[in-house]
Amino acid sequence: MAHDAMTAADSACSLFAADALLPTGWARNVLVQWDGAGRVTHVVPDTAAPAGVAQAAGPLLPGMPNLHSHAFQRAFAGLTEYRGEAQDSFWSWRNLMYRFAQRITPEALEAIATWLYIEMLEAGYTSVCEFHYVHHDTDGRPYADDATLSLALLRAAHTAGIHITLLPVLYQTSGFGAKPPRADQARFIRSTDNMLSLLERLAPACRAQEAILGMAPHSLRAVPADSLTAAVQGLTALNPHAPIHIHIAEQTQEVDDCIAWSGQRPVQWLLEHAPVDARWCLVHATHMTPTEYAAAAATGAVAGICPTTEANLGDGIFDMPLWLQHGGRWGVGSDSHACVNAAEELLMLEYGQRLVRRQRNVLATPAQPEVATAMALQAVQGGAQASGRLGDGQTAGIAVGQRADWVVLDAQAVALRGLPAPAMLSAHVFASHRTSAIHSVWAGGQCRVAGGRHALHDRAAGAFVAARATTIDAR
Ligand code: ZN
Repeated sequence: MAHDAMTAADSACSLFAADALLPTGWARNVLVQWDGAGRVTHVVPDTAAPAGVAQAAGPLLPGMPNLHSHAFQRAFAGLTEYRGEAQDSFWSWRNLMYRFAQRITPEALEAIATWLYIEMLEAGYTSVCEFHYVHHDTDGRPYADDATLSLALLRAAHTAGIHITLLPVLYQTSGFGAKPPRADQARFIRSTDNMLSLLERLAPACRAQEAILGMAPHSLRAVPADSLTAAVQGLTALNPHAPIHIHIAEQTQEVDDCIAWSGQRPVQWLLEHAPVDARWCLVHATHMTPTEYAAAAATGAVAGICPTTEANLGDGIFDMPLWLQHGGRWGVGSDSHACVNAAEELLMLEYGQRLVRRQRNVLATPAQPEVATAMALQAVQGGAQASGRLGDGQTAGIAVGQRADWVVLDAQAVALRGLPAPAMLSAHVFASHRTSAIHSVWAGGQCRVAGGRHALHDRAAGAFVAARATTIDAR
């Protein structure tokens, strides 16, 4: 694309990179320009660096969307890595997590989320989908302003400068067949009408900071069939493009319970009973049959893979080659935040596939033999779709019309120095400490992380540690 003669004003919103990972692959000598709204206006490869334009310190990568986050759980990371039962599992972890969730206050949530979002930016994520299910006060009663905790998350994202897709969670039951909620689920519970009122209440606040508002039916065990139908209809009436995320088939116990209840597996049931399409993100979708892989991929929905959390919780391994064989779309999330690092999710995803198949470079493609490059491009595209940020047929990443979100690798980092650009990305994912090779991170056209650090790093870290101290109980 040709670009016009630049003025001095343009140079404030321009960056030149010797190497950049564009949606079509690696490009050389790329000039990127963006407007005051933080949208990319020009991407010009094979050009000379104009005088006065800043030069990137290394290769430019598209910013990674984090498609699945429960922010409050960051303050709980590291506190469940001890054996509490003869055989610990997702379910024993969940009991501990609920105990922790009981103690979260609005102030603590905002401090925890602010720090988490800063960590995300420093680790290569430029947007986050917040799957938010702690709604009410510690006694289970709604706050005077029913949107209190949602608004705390919006403020945290605004402070950190990360783009947020807020997904208030519908949670009604403790198990299939409309089992009543447990006492320790009282903070999560909303009627369907009450959820739709919350969405209406949140819509202007989201618009004000260009946040995207969607909804998340928590899971089939937490949302009865009639509520699922009504909630999706209500959301669609508010915004026909709003994203819908759901936890599905994460655990074999959940699959067994769904079969006992309905005679169908969770994904099979969902595809028959809900209008699943490209608006949907199927979070985990770990346990599917080959028929379910084919049918779910055909809907255009994104598989929300959370490799480090799935490993931490012992969920199982998603069959990514089978999903890709059916044209499936995917992205990554840090979910429980046992790890907050975009590159490490890609590493864990590829390594899981290698261990199961006893092969290497499993997720490379014929068009893109560099496995880290192939994974990064796919996860950016799927993540942007799941975030509700892509119009029909749009391409995510460093492209005209997209948000100016990118990561600049540090070409002088020891792990990267002297390597060709695709190998720098490979070294960043597979051979570095994974944040140490990040020089700067830009979100919405603003440099939020410089020299590897966010401007609010120290202040937010202190507030996080203080907030965590108020929420952990002695064991
Ligand atoms: Zn989750």
